[in-house]
Amino acid sequence: MECSLPPAEVSASPNLEGLVVAVVGAGRIGAEVIRNLDRMGVGRIDVYESDARAAALLRDRHVVHLGNFWDELTLARLRHYDFAICTVDDPGARVRMNQKCLIANVNLMLVWTEGAGAVVAAYPFDALDDCACHECGTVREARPMSIAALRLTVADLPPQAADAASIATASIAAGLAAALIPRIAVGVGRYVSRRATLDSSTGQGTSLELPRDPQCVRCKGLQRPVPIVRTRNRWNVPAHVRTAFPEALEQGLELSDAIGDEPGHRYRMGELAERFRGGPIPAKFALTVVDGRVVCLDFEAPHPDETALQTRSGADPGRCTTN
Ligand SMILES: [Zn+2]
Repeated sequence: MECSLPPAEVSASPNLEGLVVAVVGAGRIGAEVIRNLDRMGVGRIDVYESDARAAALLRDRHVVHLGNFWDELTLARLRHYDFAICTVDDPGARVRMNQKCLIANVNLMLVWTEGAGAVVAAYPFDALDDCACHECGTVREARPMSIAALRLTVADLPPQAADAASIATASIAAGLAAALIPRIAVGVGRYVSRRATLDSSTGQGTSLELPRDPQCVRCKGLQRPVPIVRTRNRWNVPAHVRTAFPEALEQGLELSDAIGDEPGHRYRMGELAERFRGGPIPAKFALTVVDGRVVCLDFEAPHPDETALQTRSGADPGRCTTN
């Protein structure tokens, strides 16, 4: 484990004006991230926030999407961004952002706090086709990490001091995230998945490279960029198709969302057609294997503003097909 941040390896000035960034969550950390990126000159910062009051404060300078990010930040929208930064302090939200950014092939940054520890994890999905994803760490995270030792002490402080310490820690996390953006934007080929921590009470920090886990529940077997095919969420297999291509009913699908309380997300095409009888499946997208390669079927309807969004810098328009 290194005890310093990675060298910047900056060979040219980062074109921050050209960056298009989505910030998910505009709370204590998110608001600071937005302020930092704004001052750094990042060209466009769109905000996804579920709280109307927090959203209202940002509308004069940014495009703000009000609502749950899982609904608002569709795969099609996500693909327009150079970076997505998740500041929602919830492990489930971090997993979901990982799930979408991995498929959309968008650089992801996760920012949160643990006690006095500021934590930033960066996954350069667009820059490196074989970098680790957030869930690659599932096994590794079970081992003690230095952040566990840093999880000190905010709880031991008097309430007023604890609140002040939390504000400071959030600010440090936001600053750490903003500082990594130009490094990844410029040193794309040399940047790997990485988690950095900084303890706000001691100043002690860590920086850990994250290797890809070949057994990862999320990215095992994925060859990125994953082809995305937009398709209608209708599940009616006509009788003549069932007769002519019975094997089509056996096609496996891994859904993005759980159906009700059912464990697991894997189903057969025939099973879904039987259950939903032409109606939509309650999922955003599904993964399936075609000719030995994982392909994403995108079920989400286009938002009206989708065509108005500029394509992100360096994006390959051939990566997504629409039918
Ligand atoms: Zn993974």
